Amino acid sequence: MRLSRVKLTGFKSFVDPVELRVLPGLTGVVGPNGCGKSNLLEAIRWAMGEGSAKSLRGGAMEDVIFAGTASRPQRQFAEVAILATNENGEVEVVRRIERGAGSAYRINGRDVRARDAQLLFADAATGAHSPALVSQGRIGSIIAAKPAERRQMLEEAAGISGLHVRRREAEIRLKATETNLEKVAQSLAELE
Ligand code: ATP
Repeated sequence: MRLSRVKLTGFKSFVDPVELRVLPGLTGVVGPNGCGKSNLLEAIRWAMGEGSAKSLRGGAMEDVIFAGTASRPQRQFAEVAILATNENGEVEVVRRIERGAGSAYRINGRDVRARDAQLLFADAATGAHSPALVSQGRIGSIIAAKPAERRQMLEEAAGISGLHVRRREAEIRLKATETNLEKVAQSLAELE
């Protein structure tokens, strides 16, 4: 999967709508301190379904919404749209958060769950925790990572992290079915 465009509105320091084209060959973003390099990377990870506010340097998810400055009022929502190309063609994923209303996702204009957006990227080995997105301090954290964390990174890179999600969901469904079967067996025993 290849990212080709990122559109941000009201996300952290990107208060005004801005559209960035990701051209072939782009490997890094440079700029003065505080210009928004990390915010940009976080916006991409957020749109991919990042669920941890802490990993986006916030206390709550709403902290990604422009908080206001001395001269500009805070915003009520933040929205990030990423356009990517995969083997099926172009896909646009949009995540939007409104104060007091939480996040909503759309894939090609259709409302979807967070899980759908997360799995779309995880299956293509470009998820919110993908080693393809190298933020500040990431190299150091890889060196210091515990073996289980390194394994997680390799699984992200291999595009199999989504399988764990599906396995967990299948296990939950299996457990529910087992409980139902036990209830049926009990009811049958009572009838006999
Ligand atoms: P450095 O090179 O120092 O790491 P950077 O280019 O990565 O800097 P960022 O960390 O992306 O910069 O941006 C920091 C700026 O974003 C700060 O000025 C901070 O006030 C602003 N910022 C972060 N969150 C918000 C928010 N919710 N609303 C408004 N501004 C925000």
